[in-house]
Amino acid sequence: MIAVLKKGTTQAQMEHLIAWLRAQNLDVHVSQGEDYTVLGLIGDTGKVDMELLGSLDIVESVKRVTESFKQCNRQFHPDDTVISVGEAKIGGGHFAMIAGPCSVENEDQIIGVAQAVKSAGAQFLRGGAFKPRTSPYDFQGLGAEGIRLLLEAKRATGLPIVTEIMNINALDLFAEIDVIQVGARNMQNFDLLKELGKTDKPILLKRGLANTLKEFLMSAEYIMSEGNQNVILCERGIRTFDTYARNTLDLTVVPMIHELSHLPVVVDPSHATGKIKLIPPMAMAAVACGADGVMLEVHNDPIHALCDGAQSLKPDQFAALAGKMRIIREAIQ
Ligand code: PEP
Ligand code: MN
Repeated sequence: MIAVLKKGTTQAQMEHLIAWLRAQNLDVHVSQGEDYTVLGLIGDTGKVDMELLGSLDIVESVKRVTESFKQCNRQFHPDDTVISVGEAKIGGGHFAMIAGPCSVENEDQIIGVAQAVKSAGAQFLRGGAFKPRTSPYDFQGLGAEGIRLLLEAKRATGLPIVTEIMNINALDLFAEIDVIQVGARNMQNFDLLKELGKTDKPILLKRGLANTLKEFLMSAEYIMSEGNQNVILCERGIRTFDTYARNTLDLTVVPMIHELSHLPVVVDPSHATGKIKLIPPMAMAAVACGADGVMLEVHNDPIHALCDGAQSLKPDQFAALAGKMRIIREAIQ
């Protein structure tokens, strides 16, 4: 349920109302916009007397939020959420490029790619230390050593780090990581989501391979329901009947998410397509349809990459694409 407060409501009046609502065992989220304040009520709102609440002097309107996702719902929080990490920002008109190799392989590789993507304008370095591979015989990532190398790259370039967690037992290793990624395969690992919800780290949540938009938003809700409001959604392609590309990039979710939710949404054309030639057009399309950022795999030597070489841009290809994305952003602003 949401209650929109009238313009001119004082802080004292609002606090008085919040105390009254909390006394009814409700959790109250305050979203302060420029012109109005929205109170989001969570809990057993069935017992709330809507008529009474709506009749209060300071209340403009009261509405039930019928969707099952509440905290990520735009009705709860009309303004865009902006995720800030140092100087980098995602959402609310701020666009971010997250770039780097599929996996961290060695120090020269990760620092070299970090320097290259930084000079091409990337705001974040990505790189997997814990890799969810389809085959147990494939490279599984360097684990703790990979995290150490990512932090070396962060020291060398100043770029904040985005990297994937697969098991909550590894959380201590992520203390200095800036954004924790939940991969597509773990989008509905609800225990993992709940534990990450107890942290204050930004979480980049990837859409599952065969999950609906509603399920995607409900997974964000799992994180937020534990207190962590810093969620970035990532569309990375879904599985359809077509096997020409690795996945089918569902760009319709970008404007849909902006309508339904206040959370930022980034697009990963690398995992969505799996093919170099499809990445630039899909990255540009993501920008054109309003994505708050892109995640792109970049490798210094794709042919010898230990993972996802066929979908990894070379640094000069990334730099060229970054320039084109900049032009599209200017055109749509
Ligand atoms: C990744 O980003 O490294 C990755 C494994 O992606 P996804 O979870 O989308 O497959
Ligand atoms: Mn990959």
